[in-house]
Amino acid sequence: MPDASLMLELCEILGVTVNELLSGEKIEREDYKKKTEELLVEMAQSEEEKNKGLLTAMWTITIVSIGSLVVALLLVYYLMEPGIVQILVAIGVVIVFLIPANIGLKLEVQAGYYECKNCHHKFIPTYREVLGAAHISTTRYLKCPECGKRTWCKKVLKK
Ligand SMILES: [Zn+2]
Repeated sequence: MPDASLMLELCEILGVTVNELLSGEKIEREDYKKKTEELLVEMAQSEEEKNKGLLTAMWTITIVSIGSLVVALLLVYYLMEPGIVQILVAIGVVIVFLIPANIGLKLEVQAGYYECKNCHHKFIPTYREVLGAAHISTTRYLKCPECGKRTWCKKVLKK
């Protein structure tokens, strides 16, 4: 896939349309509309696939890291002498857990869009907005940039 900013210039030099460049063949007039539609569907599908992959990675990281956190805290609780050192180690374990939690959250923001419950506008919030938003699984309480209302926005994988 050529860089989008070079696409028009490239087509001009080659004497082809953007459509022909992307589908890799000469297109007759009557096939044109059909080809365009096929390409759009293909692009939407590949975007959805990519987003599915990101969400799978996010869930894997979330589950593995929460599992490890629980095991580590249990070990600290049962194997260490009660006291200040034990508390400090437990705090350390929780701080280390913040690293995969942060990676998981970044993956969630990158995958697809959040859909406003009020106006059904689909948008990508900033990492900071997502970090501060209450959530149930990947459904988050966010402010819609279109209608300005705060609703429980569902995660959707395509526009
Ligand atoms: Zn809205």
